[in-house]
Amino acid sequence: MDISDALELARELMDEHGVGDWEFAFDRAKRRAGATNFTARKITLSKALVQLYAPEQVRAVMLHEIAHALVGPRHGHDAEWKRMCVAIGGDGRARLPMDSPEPEAPWVGRCPAGHTAQRYRRPTRQLSCRRCSRSFSPEHLFVWVNRETGERTAPA
Ligand SMILES: [Zn+2]
Ligand SMILES: [Zn+2]
Repeated sequence: MDISDALELARELMDEHGVGDWEFAFDRAKRRAGATNFTARKITLSKALVQLYAPEQVRAVMLHEIAHALVGPRHGHDAEWKRMCVAIGGDGRARLPMDSPEPEAPWVGRCPAGHTAQRYRRPTRQLSCRRCSRSFSPEHLFVWVNRETGERTAPA
């Protein structure tokens, strides 16, 4: 998702769910998508990961963090947190959806349908999504982003 769109979405959701007076910022984390800082009253999202996520995933992460802000620091991912997360429209899951990029490999590819793949080395040739098409298909190419440098390889 585009960073400025994500910022707008984050502020909208915070206003809508009663934490509009909290601060919002992007952070430099690469291994977790979002965080809630109760003492600073601040929600942050990983700038690197937001750029790899589809809008629905950013929304889910944001609702996850807003639910933390609403129920307070002692709840962790307990039943009360879960109830709140679902009540505001989130998925109530402590972890991110299965097809979210895993943090280990620096290169993350996304096909037009939103499936993801990972590589440890810079992809040197075009790869198409196996989940969308069993054989090579120019319509299902991955676009690769390096989560550490932000470098992007678009299909030609
Ligand atoms: Zn959490
Ligand atoms: Zn696909």
